[in-house]
Amino acid sequence: MNQFESSHARNQYEIGAADISAIVQTVRDHKRFAFLVVRGDRGELQIVVDKSKLEIPPVGSFVRIQGDIVSSEKANSGIEMQCSSIALTSKPAALPPFPLDKPIEASLDLVLDLRAVSLRNNYSDAVFRCQSAIGNAFRDQLHYEGFIEIHSPKLVGGGTEGGADVFKVAYFDREASLAQSPQLYKQIACGAFGKVYEVGPVFRAENSNTSRHLTEFTGLDFETTLHRDQHELMDIEERFLGRALKYLSLFQRERQLLGFDIPSEVQIPRISWQEANQLVEKHGTSTPDQTHDKAIGQAAKLEFGSRFLFVYGYPEDEKPFYVMPSSEPGFTESFDFLVDGLEVSSGGERINDLALLEERMKAKGLAPEQYPGYLSAFKYGMPKHGGAGLGLERVTQCLLGLHNVRESTLFVRDPRRLDP
Ligand code: ATP
Ligand code: MG
Repeated sequence: MNQFESSHARNQYEIGAADISAIVQTVRDHKRFAFLVVRGDRGELQIVVDKSKLEIPPVGSFVRIQGDIVSSEKANSGIEMQCSSIALTSKPAALPPFPLDKPIEASLDLVLDLRAVSLRNNYSDAVFRCQSAIGNAFRDQLHYEGFIEIHSPKLVGGGTEGGADVFKVAYFDREASLAQSPQLYKQIACGAFGKVYEVGPVFRAENSNTSRHLTEFTGLDFETTLHRDQHELMDIEERFLGRALKYLSLFQRERQLLGFDIPSEVQIPRISWQEANQLVEKHGTSTPDQTHDKAIGQAAKLEFGSRFLFVYGYPEDEKPFYVMPSSEPGFTESFDFLVDGLEVSSGGERINDLALLEERMKAKGLAPEQYPGYLSAFKYGMPKHGGAGLGLERVTQCLLGLHNVRESTLFVRDPRRLDP
């Protein structure tokens, strides 16, 4: 058991005297007794309160509760507390507008407007506990494999990675932009340290209101020297996924609440871009109202029975300038990782030759002279290398089966939302 697993295993209430701080999630009022369910840092607990002795706190209030935790057949978790004292630690001015213990039925817009309180709902609580475990799994896996964590700047001058989705910011008397990814910096760092990863914000000025796009999300990025080819990168993602699922399997309460499955083993089929298109053709999954990725995902599910899929060898025009061209002209050493036909990651081998890199930049309409810092790494020689980037909110959305990426985003940034 590693540190994460053992600390999670300890994280439950135990029989005996207890003193806990929690939020009151529900109150069931009976004649002599009231039954509260409170949620503290060890999850939910039923509290039995003798109404002749103690006052019942309102739903949504924060309390310090003392008493004895005993086993109980009637409580869902098999334990409950016989309460001896309740103190309100703050007096709310209003009752919560949403239930704290049931799925919220209000519109997603209202849920996001009232984020401070919708986050207190136990479904939402479950989502972000699972997300934290997924982030931990990424860090733990890469550390275990000898990567070091880096922190690259999010304010960048000069050339960007291309595409129109850049946020410009005023930077004194110049213009800068917000980093679209740590791509160029993680490659430079890979040239210095070999194996690097970063968990940090990524900004995309994508004016699209879909259920999978945000304008700011959390990137899980890594870059490493390669021995063979990009399959080593897919191996790393496969091992990360295995660890993430193992961590999530410890979250029984959250899994029950959100109703998601954990596959017992992770063996992700890998098919080429051409094979993916042949599968779509074979199973007839292409429809006008869904993305090509969705059609690929459905075809792969029918073919392999797998929700997970790697597609590799994308055409050059679908990928950025820095991806390594394949020996087959017009194609690249790149891959996407799809879950149920939704992209959760893109990666691949990178060009490590200066002349080829400059040529590819020009072909994509970029001016090499705007990238002196990046290109100097190649001038002094770069190892054979590659990497990938995943979106934490997307991975959470897919693994937990959420409809909209906003449900797995703590504070949403999209074209219409900058607050809260
Ligand atoms: P998409 O095709 O879904 O728009 P992309 O190919 O533009 O994504 P990449 O640049 O490959 O995205 O980013 C790597 C990963 O970051 C994606 O696989 C996805 O998990 C996540 N990601 C990318 N764009 C967004 C976004 N706008 N909102 C949330 N996550 C994103
Ligand atoms: Mg991509």
